[in-house]
Amino acid sequence: MTDEPKSLLRRVLAKIRGLKLHTQILIGLILGAVLGPLMGEVAQWIKPIGDAFINLLIMIVVPLVMASLIVGTASLGDLKKLGRIGIKTVGYYLIATAIAVAFGLGAGKAFNPGAGMDEDVKARMLTDYAGVTEEQLQRVADKPGLAEFLVDIVPRNPFRAMVETNFLQIIFFALLFGISLTILSEERRQPILRLLSSVNDAMIVLVKMVMRVAPLGVFALIAAVAAQFGYGVLLTLLKYVVVTIGTMIVFVLAVYPISLRLSGMPATYFFKKYYEVMLFAFSTSSSNATLPINIQVSQEDLGVANDVASFVLPLGATINMNGTAIYQGVSTIFIAQVFGIALGLQDLLIVVLTATLASIGAAGVPGIGMVTLTIVLQQIGIPVEGIALVVGVERILDMTRTAVNVTGDTTCAVWVAKTEGELNIPQDSEKLAA
Ligand code: ASP
Repeated sequence: MTDEPKSLLRRVLAKIRGLKLHTQILIGLILGAVLGPLMGEVAQWIKPIGDAFINLLIMIVVPLVMASLIVGTASLGDLKKLGRIGIKTVGYYLIATAIAVAFGLGAGKAFNPGAGMDEDVKARMLTDYAGVTEEQLQRVADKPGLAEFLVDIVPRNPFRAMVETNFLQIIFFALLFGISLTILSEERRQPILRLLSSVNDAMIVLVKMVMRVAPLGVFALIAAVAAQFGYGVLLTLLKYVVVTIGTMIVFVLAVYPISLRLSGMPATYFFKKYYEVMLFAFSTSSSNATLPINIQVSQEDLGVANDVASFVLPLGATINMNGTAIYQGVSTIFIAQVFGIALGLQDLLIVVLTATLASIGAAGVPGIGMVTLTIVLQQIGIPVEGIALVVGVERILDMTRTAVNVTGDTTCAVWVAKTEGELNIPQDSEKLAA
């Protein structure tokens, strides 16, 4: 490179570095999407940067959730309040998920994404992706039944729960630990609370440090995805993709603002502060990996108290998936239409119920939505081979639904905090909303 382009590049980089962090992340994402396909092999070389970035985030999540949840529970000092927060959270999550599936089904019925698919295209996709069906069926077979699932929430070994990032088990242990601490004398309780508070604070500092490399991490992740993306499949499935993503956008813009209004938070304020977390979720396809930054932003920028955020958000990463629910609704209709299967009202109700329940046990990691989709299809007798029809665009849909999933967790946290008098909306909200 000659001196001139070099200094131009340096100037551009310096300019970018001078921008706000969330703008930098957005630039990373856009550059990744544009340059990725042009980079070819090179995009795969830089993929390890993105993977390391996800590892960094996951590295923080367990100590952060454990420490902040124990401190949060111990500071509640009131078991009734804990029960109330628990019931509100689970109630919100179940209702939001059911509404989301209904949205997906409604959009599928209204726009018929699967009607008129070419028979040759259908046959080709079913053959090309046949292996995926086997894989999904295996994953479904590995899933525990209801009784096993409930028993499994109680960890035999809390350290194992941490090693496996099993949030339901971590939450269970942390709650009981926090409650036990409140029963100890002040003198015995304080040292451990001070220690855990410091662990919590240090993890938040670490989140902020990791965030500084986020633009690069996001760039690497998106470039690698964009380079490998099958644009041909995207065109074939364009209607299905547009209906799915469009429904998610409508849901985010129509349903969450209602919840925010009930919480007294201007929606514009929320999204201005929060879109950085959505970009993150979009880039990583993982609610779990997004959790550290979600907790930090919810507390510091949205004003959700620690005891609420540390409970509602990790629980949501596991049991609340509104984007995934919409995806399941649209996909079920899409696959049924391609196979020429008519679904009655009873089938649709079963889809709402199954999709809502299935999402409860699904961890917030990439690709889990396809496992739950397999369960839904099985439940109403649609051939699970139909998964092969949607797998070609799985990644882009996974990214989008993850962004919606985390948003649903946080609107719940804002609402629960509001109803508990634990929402301290920062001063600048009115200015920003104007
Ligand atoms: N990737 C999503 C999440 O982490 C789950 C899914 O596959 O739908 O929230």
